[in-house]
Amino acid sequence: MSSVTLRLPVRLTVALGAVTLLAACGGSTTPADDSASPSGPPTIVAAFYPLAYAAEQVVGPDATVINLTPPGAEAHDLELTPQQVAQIADADLVLYIPGFQPAVDEAVQQQAGDRALNVTEAIELLPAEDHGDGHTHDALDGDPHVWLNPLNMATIGDEIAARLTPNASIAAAAEKGAADLRASMEALNDEWAAGTAACTIRDLVVSHEAFGYLAAAYGFIQVGVAGISPEAEPSPARLAEVAKFVRDNGITTIYYETLVDPKVAETLAAETGAATAVLDPLEGLPEGYVGDYVTVMQDNLAQVRAGQGCT
Ligand SMILES: [Zn+2]
Repeated sequence: MSSVTLRLPVRLTVALGAVTLLAACGGSTTPADDSASPSGPPTIVAAFYPLAYAAEQVVGPDATVINLTPPGAEAHDLELTPQQVAQIADADLVLYIPGFQPAVDEAVQQQAGDRALNVTEAIELLPAEDHGDGHTHDALDGDPHVWLNPLNMATIGDEIAARLTPNASIAAAAEKGAADLRASMEALNDEWAAGTAACTIRDLVVSHEAFGYLAAAYGFIQVGVAGISPEAEPSPARLAEVAKFVRDNGITTIYYETLVDPKVAETLAAETGAATAVLDPLEGLPEGYVGDYVTVMQDNLAQVRAGQGCT
């Protein structure tokens, strides 16, 4: 994983090849000038887990991928340390979603310049629903939770690979990594499509509106108790409205998420007789979790199949 040790053999080769040329033209330029064209394994900074996962699949073990959001932390409210801001300043590529993590937006704007990649650029955004929680998304005109559709993850992989094309040391590996990621995301998408084809309950009642892309991809309608931000407290009026919806529509399961207090979902469940279950929005992995994006999405599929009357 160390970019320093891996970079040495490449540099040596370039330097040896350059000796003759330099001797011939009598120039004094130093070989392998990093500022002119990228060389060596890149260091990629990812704002939070799914972007780090996509980057790791694309670049493989030779490059360094740094995830700014530690396991168990709530991604929306991430605060950056000075060291992390420095990592953004030094990275070859910074992956982020504007409007999702304000602290990252600010650091990217100040430090990353044209090394930043908004991974949603090639993705058609869904509108962000607003339940009057005062949460606004100035930087992104839509719902930021794009990674919950596996096919969007494949697109993100392609975007990452495209940005690495000028770096000859990684371009071919990245192209293959992106193709492999696409294949695995398409397989996961097929698994979800088959597993949800015959569900009888099509309304997906979730604690925070992270699942818009997943719902749209597999024929569900997302009903969010709170808004886009998981910390937003729903008003009593909103709670009453959702409780009525649950009773009127035969909803049997209310989903809450791993990294946020299940209190609201439990209150609603107690009030309506519905059960609660975990649906992970994958904004980070739970602390100590052994598994990855694919296994969390497979766990999510099992929960949805159990909670939505799927046969
Ligand atoms: Zn969220």
